[in-house]
Amino acid sequence: MSSLVRSRNNTFSALEIERDADWRSDTETINRRLHAVAARFLLLRADGRALVDAAGHRLRGLDHARFACFGGSEEATTYLGNTQGHDWFVWRADDAACASIAARIGGDFVDLRSAGLTLAADDAGLFAYARAIVNWQERTRHCSVCGSRVRHESAGHRAVCTNPQCAAEHFPRTDPAMIVVVAHGGACLLGRQASWPKGRYSALAGFVEPGETLEAAVQREVYEEAGVRVVDCDYHSSQPWPFPSSIMLGFTARADDPTIKLGPELEDARWFTARQLVDGVASGELLMPSPLSVSYRLVEHWLREAAGIELDSVTHDDPLRRAVRG
Ligand SMILES: [Zn+2]
Repeated sequence: MSSLVRSRNNTFSALEIERDADWRSDTETINRRLHAVAARFLLLRADGRALVDAAGHRLRGLDHARFACFGGSEEATTYLGNTQGHDWFVWRADDAACASIAARIGGDFVDLRSAGLTLAADDAGLFAYARAIVNWQERTRHCSVCGSRVRHESAGHRAVCTNPQCAAEHFPRTDPAMIVVVAHGGACLLGRQASWPKGRYSALAGFVEPGETLEAAVQREVYEEAGVRVVDCDYHSSQPWPFPSSIMLGFTARADDPTIKLGPELEDARWFTARQLVDGVASGELLMPSPLSVSYRLVEHWLREAAGIELDSVTHDDPLRRAVRG
């Protein structure tokens, strides 16, 4: 399986969209598309929740007639791209407008983490994309060069400094974070933070620092958190993680020496054999990371490779996921 397929299997990662970056700055084209029958508006409430259908499986995209009828502002829309046969725009409305729209046309507002478990995979990806760009817009109100206000252009994808002496341009940023399951002698290394629910263990993770390769970040983080030296690592898959602006880069890795020396970030780190992992999960003493996360996918990958066992068949830790599966 290639990383292309592995990434698509991650939550928020299945979106196939034509972003049309070449004409996002063309306001005439954007306006024409905005008024066309193919336009759809992804409604985001101030708290970041999106409107979904009553069953919770699809985003409830509104057409331009409804957008206009409920007082949508064309100047404030952000263009996401064309997918599912529609041109998708983000429409951020205040709480009163959102309540009135939901009351009139039905549906509920859900947060992105819940949506990752319940929405169709492509809609979850579209929602994550919308949140990522809105998060950037909300955090980019002033120029980081001179401190003046910025103006958002290019259908929401560029911020331009309003100080004519500066006129710096700013673009949406994504912060790379690595996450890794290290293997040694038939066991995998997982850690836990003190603030997590009792029994939850997860892959080790951290932000990539300036001047660092992804592989060096994997080695540094594993050593800082668990005192274990990684000798090999390979890229597994990636996942947009707009909480608020990351991309998770999943790795598998190998260590020669299993000695653990805990750093200050973790409360515990341990090697788990496949037997210990399966028994721990089955008894409820060990909780796996959320199935939303790349961490879950990395443990799943390791368990499949090490013991031919599917993690889905042994996890029972998430009531929402269980409910969804019926
Ligand atoms: Zn400036």
